[in-house]
Amino acid sequence: MKSKSKILVIYTGGTIGMIKSELGTYVPFSVDGLLGYVPQIYTLGVDIVVESFEKPMDSALIGPKQWVTISKIISKNYDLVDGFVILHGTDTMAYTSSALSFLLRGLSKPVILTGAQVPIYEEKSDGVDNFINAIEIAGQGVVKEVALWFHKTLFKGACVTKSDSKSFSGFSSPNHEPLATKEKAIKYNKGAFDTGELDRIFFFSINAEILYINLLPSINKEIQAKVINENPIQGIVLSVFGSGTVPLIQEDLLTAALQDKNIPIIAVSECYRGGVEIGKYEAGSILNDLNVISGQKMTKEAAITKLMVAIGNFKNEQEIRNYLIQNQVGEF
Ligand code: ASP
Repeated sequence: MKSKSKILVIYTGGTIGMIKSELGTYVPFSVDGLLGYVPQIYTLGVDIVVESFEKPMDSALIGPKQWVTISKIISKNYDLVDGFVILHGTDTMAYTSSALSFLLRGLSKPVILTGAQVPIYEEKSDGVDNFINAIEIAGQGVVKEVALWFHKTLFKGACVTKSDSKSFSGFSSPNHEPLATKEKAIKYNKGAFDTGELDRIFFFSINAEILYINLLPSINKEIQAKVINENPIQGIVLSVFGSGTVPLIQEDLLTAALQDKNIPIIAVSECYRGGVEIGKYEAGSILNDLNVISGQKMTKEAAITKLMVAIGNFKNEQEIRNYLIQNQVGEF
């Protein structure tokens, strides 16, 4: 008989475990309080071990430092458990799931992030359900990659975005199929799985000296040029219109700034769905002159974290570019 799966739950904070402060605002609370509210997780036929951030936090405060911390916790425990569940605030969970997807390559165990829109202590919380399902999926060990479970759906870690700030179905994967869905039982969609062909390489470096530029119709391009010229920026994610048009002409100071900087630039679409196709319109051809990398169907979360991981781990310009133009974990 197969022995029970052992799952490490990593508690980072987020609404799932929050309580109301005296001021009436939600604040993170202890992991012990949270676990006391979901005794069901101990009846699922898996062994559960828990590691909590010393100070659980609102995910608004989670970024590169915490992504590396989580990666290190996973690496340290990798051979000791069969899977991981990360409890996380929803606001930046898609950034963390994207970052972990690039940091933890070639996984052979599930790493499942989840959270809730309503605290577990409140009557109509989605937290209990999300937590239980995430544990079940981690325990089943079918998915061997970073994924995000939310409201009946398992999304690929580097293809998901927070799309609703209130509804229980708070996440979506606009350009990619989900890894699994649940009506009565969990139904896996194996066609969307990681091919499992990557060698296991865990990266622990992130370089956050990047800029996200939103090219809006009303934007002051001179100000953006100044920001680029006067700061030690190592890479840029450019949010462009539609399938890849931009309000840029050769004479712009912003065009010159982008050219002179000579750093990797990734274009992503400001549209929710569809991605970019550089070169389709004349009004986007300047992106080719600027040597911009097509973000294809990447979410902004994936583009930003992929760029940070690339710059953090490859020193050579060509290596960085090669990494960025290739599909790493299904993000294209
Ligand atoms: N502000 C909370 C957080 O991201 C929201 C949530 O968890 O739903 O930590």
